[in-house]
Amino acid sequence: MLQSLRRIVQEVNSTRDLDQVLEIIVLRVKTAIDADVCSVYLLDDAENTENKFTLMATDGLNSDLIGQVNMGYDAGLVGLVAQRADPLSLDDAQQHPRFQLVPGLNEEKYHSFVGIPITHHKNVLGVLVVQSEPIQHFSQYVVNFLVTIAAQLAGAITNAQASIQVPAQYEQQIKQQRVVKTDHKSLVSNRRPLIGQPGAPGVAIGKAVAFISSISLEVIPDKQATDIEDEIHIFHLALEAVRRDIKSLSQQLISDGMAAEDVAIFDAYLLMLNSKSLTKSIDNKIYAGNWAAGALRDTILEHVNSFNELENPYLRERAKDIQDLGQMLYEQMQVDKDHPLDVLSKDKIIVAEDLSATVLADIKTNNIAGIVLKSGSRTSHVAILARALGVPTVVGVSELPTIELDGSQLIVDGYSGQVFISPPESIINEYTHLIFQEKELFDKLKTLRKEPATTIDGVNIPLYANTGLVADITPSKKSGAEGIGLYRTEYPFMIRQQFPGEEEQSQIYHEVMSAFAPRPVVLRTLDIGGDKSLSYFPIKEDNPFLGWRGIRVTLDHPEIFMIQLRSMMIASIGLNNLNILFPMISSINELEDALELLERAYRELLNEDYKVQMPKVGVMVEVPSMIFQMRNIASLVDFVSIGSNDLIQYLLAVDRNNNNVANLYESLHPSVLIAIRQVIDEAHKEGVPVSLCGEMASDPLAVILLLGMSIDSLSTSVASLPSIKWLIRNFSQQEAKTLLDDALKMKDAKLIKSLLSNTLEKKRLGGLIRAGG
Ligand code: PEP
Ligand code: MG
Repeated sequence: MLQSLRRIVQEVNSTRDLDQVLEIIVLRVKTAIDADVCSVYLLDDAENTENKFTLMATDGLNSDLIGQVNMGYDAGLVGLVAQRADPLSLDDAQQHPRFQLVPGLNEEKYHSFVGIPITHHKNVLGVLVVQSEPIQHFSQYVVNFLVTIAAQLAGAITNAQASIQVPAQYEQQIKQQRVVKTDHKSLVSNRRPLIGQPGAPGVAIGKAVAFISSISLEVIPDKQATDIEDEIHIFHLALEAVRRDIKSLSQQLISDGMAAEDVAIFDAYLLMLNSKSLTKSIDNKIYAGNWAAGALRDTILEHVNSFNELENPYLRERAKDIQDLGQMLYEQMQVDKDHPLDVLSKDKIIVAEDLSATVLADIKTNNIAGIVLKSGSRTSHVAILARALGVPTVVGVSELPTIELDGSQLIVDGYSGQVFISPPESIINEYTHLIFQEKELFDKLKTLRKEPATTIDGVNIPLYANTGLVADITPSKKSGAEGIGLYRTEYPFMIRQQFPGEEEQSQIYHEVMSAFAPRPVVLRTLDIGGDKSLSYFPIKEDNPFLGWRGIRVTLDHPEIFMIQLRSMMIASIGLNNLNILFPMISSINELEDALELLERAYRELLNEDYKVQMPKVGVMVEVPSMIFQMRNIASLVDFVSIGSNDLIQYLLAVDRNNNNVANLYESLHPSVLIAIRQVIDEAHKEGVPVSLCGEMASDPLAVILLLGMSIDSLSTSVASLPSIKWLIRNFSQQEAKTLLDDALKMKDAKLIKSLLSNTLEKKRLGGLIRAGG
């Protein structure tokens, strides 16, 4: 049975069409466990059906009724399995009170029954059923097998459903025209919005540009060939080039001394490439209308499947070789295409599985309208950069069909985390109107540039900017920031090929500090590790966020740390607006070690006759252990800065980059609020001011509560700074304290969020947290 399981999983993964997946499942499962019937019922959330499970495939029952039999949660054993979301195994199903005979389905003679819920992220998507004639007990082993199959099926169903269905809420949310369900082949039109996480606020309308670093054959989509001869040409060029590459690689290896029999695999590759059955099949598929990559995918996967079915293990291994060849051919086909990042412009939206902060930093000068990513969450560094660049962004779209979207029109709603694909005109008009209203609001906010961030009852909360790119300085200044509250020094390190030296670093830091002097600039020491790595200093760990990160790396490499500390102090000569901030401190000893190295660097510079001043020094509170030693920690520094992005991930045990758990990452979680309040109160007892430089400072709802906690200053992304200023100017601290008291009586983030959102709407400040004015 394990062998069958492996085969079924392989087949399901190489099949793209949901109907086909279901057919494979019912056929193979029935055979594998020697049952008489296997069927799949799926929840149909399209219009006119209210949570009904529809028979979508069966091997054993009357297949004429596929699509016709619908069971609600209260109907039959299928409904019961879905309702309980638990497997149900019955020796004689017909004796069960919930058993319901569907006329015409021909299930009268089947007694034994197992129903397994098909579940994805807690939602029951369908039910897998097996039945047999005799009254008998299906073993636990069989039930486990079916549970494993159902889990596989859940993934295949969610992927396929992302392309085909239009749930009712689409119409309700947008109150716009109806989009009807289309067939499975319609991949990018008439589709429900994709749901992700808000990455950077704002709304963008534009054309998708797919950015793919590397791709596996299975996920290449179908695409209608626009010019069949062109596609044939693309395929044959790739074929020739791969043949050439393989020959020259093989010759190279032989001339390097490798035995001819050891390079025989290359001859096998060449034989496969010269095989008429392979090339002809691809040509035919192109002539039938598919683009070259789609035709290649189908042919290769067909060959892979047939090799996988062979009993001879040696021949079965060849499936892997064919897959490798297919991959080479596909990569070769991409070689001559324009690099997607070269065709960016103001109306383009980057769509990608993942985008490193380094790549994004590199394209900063390109004007792009928006970004949509499969990976990441609100506090991933790529989202932070996108906010710094003011680019509306949605991250963590788990069902993102990256390549299929290439060239489609998209609307990116960076407030709600929704992405609309090829939307109808009415939705485009609606969003165009929202963009207009938003622009009006931001134009109004710009007039506040020179005004202080002072509450109605006269409390001033200086607003600083977060940055890390030199190119950010002008926007930071224009935003009305009163200084830089967090300069992430790792960014300039990331876009270089090696560690920058003392002179180079001093220049970078001087540029930032002189732009803001005499206003303060907080330079954070190198914070690599986690999701920020340097190509020339790779850190590979299973658990990078709990590993060698931030100050842990720099304390282990005093030579790197000393150069950075010296560069910062040299850059500050004559300006004296430097504040140094240490990241990821988790114990007093680490802080003491860092302070000692700073002192050493300072003494060294004085000895070398530099006219340096000792800067102010701060510590980031990002690791929960700091909360409980706050008074001791505060007594050693001049200021404290709360790094809420990491503090939340460590407090709630939620990886800030993992979109599987992004819904658990809650900045308004009561424990997070209590922790932050404690940090502020304890630091104040030592007379030490507290700032917050994580993304919470850009979230209007969180800022209300921080105001209530008497935070001393905030450091936000440049794009959010005007909104936060507007918010502060519309609140009194007294009001914020009352809201904080009310919020802390609530049991969860959801209730707190609705309390705060309602308050904003009542004060006519709703435009700060949603699209529109
Ligand atoms: C934080 O953790 O809140 C922070 C500001 O640091 P980073 O996002 O760079 O990890
Ligand atoms: Mg951090």
